[in-house]
Amino acid sequence: MTDRLYPEEWQRGPRYGGAYTFARCPATRDLSKADVAIVGVPMDMMVLYRSGARFGPRAIRDASGQLRPHHWEPAMLEPPFDTLRVVDYGDVEVFPGYIEQTYEKVQSAIALMAEADVIPVVLGGDHGTTLPVLRALAKKHGKMSLVHFDAHPDFWESTPERPYHHGTVFRRATEEGLIDPASSIQIGIRGSISANLIEETRAAGFHVITGSEFALQGTGEALKDLHRIVKAPVYVSLDIDCVDPAFAPGTGTPEVAGLTSREIVDLVRGLSGIETVGFDVVEVAPAYDSAEITSLLAANLVFEFLLVLAATRAG
Ligand code: MN
Ligand code: MN
Repeated sequence: MTDRLYPEEWQRGPRYGGAYTFARCPATRDLSKADVAIVGVPMDMMVLYRSGARFGPRAIRDASGQLRPHHWEPAMLEPPFDTLRVVDYGDVEVFPGYIEQTYEKVQSAIALMAEADVIPVVLGGDHGTTLPVLRALAKKHGKMSLVHFDAHPDFWESTPERPYHHGTVFRRATEEGLIDPASSIQIGIRGSISANLIEETRAAGFHVITGSEFALQGTGEALKDLHRIVKAPVYVSLDIDCVDPAFAPGTGTPEVAGLTSREIVDLVRGLSGIETVGFDVVEVAPAYDSAEITSLLAANLVFEFLLVLAATRAG
């Protein structure tokens, strides 16, 4: 290639060799050389059940070693790395036990990206990771539409004594005016949550497609709803527990009867044409994984998102 940074040549050396960056993208913090920055947030201090998502970024990068820069679908033959300069920014500095300080670090890293017109692709971390990302992006873009894949609405009430945990993120984001619930959608909600909470989330304005509703209506109808509801700028937050534990066991709060890996791939792929300003995949906890299927899925979902960005940019 030219003088620009580019992923390591896939044919050179084994894909499992060398220092691990996402999909062998160049490691740099020089944002002038990037359109998209992969950034890890190795944090899991806000979980309510099993911890371990702090090892998510490392596991996703590891699994991404298997990715090649091509795609099997005819509509997506263009390698995303030809259209987009994708770099691996490394991980944000995290202080275990110190949420506010960690939030400041995450927000300022994402703010640098937003200022440089670089799209952040965040590897969590628990879902608490998303709030400071939204704070930074809302400063640049204003109120955003949210596309939220999750088993949980993460809309529990927060209190002054306990403002933050991974289940309060979108309640806080709504209260702080970072997202516009009326143009936001949640897909996959189910499991050990009360019907009241789903009603509250809907009353706040979110379009909620529960896991059962999704099973009835399918990917095509859900994508029609999604494209009808969201308005640019759009942020996409993907909690890996939206997927069934049969396909993604490596997570802290698994809920049965979720999406298949096929369905979530198609949903992410279906984001093509939408003006997105950021993406995250959170709650990958490799200690509970089996044969790396969860981190492999997460790595592929990031790759699918990069393809969507490239296709959307190419028009
Ligand atoms: Mn979540
Ligand atoms: Mn969840």
